Amino acid sequence: MLVFKKTKDLQDYLRPKKAKGVTVGFVPTMGALHKGHLSLVKRSKGENDVTVTSIFVNPTQFNDPSDLANYPRTTDTDLEELIAYQNDIVFLPEVDEVYPESLEEGNEFDFGYLDKPMEGRFRPGHFTGVAQVVSKLLDMVAPRRLYLGQKDYQQYRIISEMIRQQGRDVESVLCDTVREEDGLALSSRNKRLSERDRKDALIISQTLFGIQERARKGETLSNVKQWAESNLYSNPNVEPEYLEIIDAASFKAVTSWDDAHHIIAFAAARVGPVRLIDNVIIF
Ligand code: AMP
Repeated sequence: MLVFKKTKDLQDYLRPKKAKGVTVGFVPTMGALHKGHLSLVKRSKGENDVTVTSIFVNPTQFNDPSDLANYPRTTDTDLEELIAYQNDIVFLPEVDEVYPESLEEGNEFDFGYLDKPMEGRFRPGHFTGVAQVVSKLLDMVAPRRLYLGQKDYQQYRIISEMIRQQGRDVESVLCDTVREEDGLALSSRNKRLSERDRKDALIISQTLFGIQERARKGETLSNVKQWAESNLYSNPNVEPEYLEIIDAASFKAVTSWDDAHHIIAFAAARVGPVRLIDNVIIF
């Protein structure tokens, strides 16, 4: 596995390969890798000749400085995991490699309603930072395909919209959420949960799968919502930020199960010191 810290070195390596028609799959991450990230690497390896995984904790997408300071950094074990998954190239840039001039460069976007609800509402500036860094990384790596997780579905939609607006020739590929056996979505932030918080965090995925089960059984939306809210709000150690059942196309809340073709339930909650998000496809 090759590790590059400088964009120029990465590009000098990839250029002759691309000229020969080699396809590049790209997996952007913030490190502290788990099986969710590695499933993206595996998918990319199956669909491309070369897989580039980046590890970069992007300062501009953290609206909470303590979240940035406490974000887990485990580069050595990340590299070992990536070798085990036969990842081809790791891109490990420093902050000034990505933002040579200032942290504000290239941060003007308009995503209409897509970045207004849910994460956009509770993490002001977050998606601007995400779009800014992914745009820069796409310039640097220039992949054929970009691999993103369903767990951050709003992010996937915003990045896909950014790619469309910028007219980039890259396909964004959405990959299923990988979960612990009991249902908790894998997240780098799970490393910061105490044993008790880890147990309590389960209520997030339980609520979302509970919505799916009840909806598919034919219970009315209002009954399901009522159940979901009382369930998610029942544990004093879990502080929900939002629970939304939305039309995946418009990102607006649905008023009945017949309202939309694709409906997804989303939740975000603080458990102890950690903020967690998850979503489950209902229909
Ligand atoms: P992050 O390191 O949190 O920025 O995540 C990097 C990529 O991994 C994003 O596309 C995430 O959506 C994806 N990802 C994170 N957690 C999971 C998971 N549990 N299952 C699948 N993909 C995930």
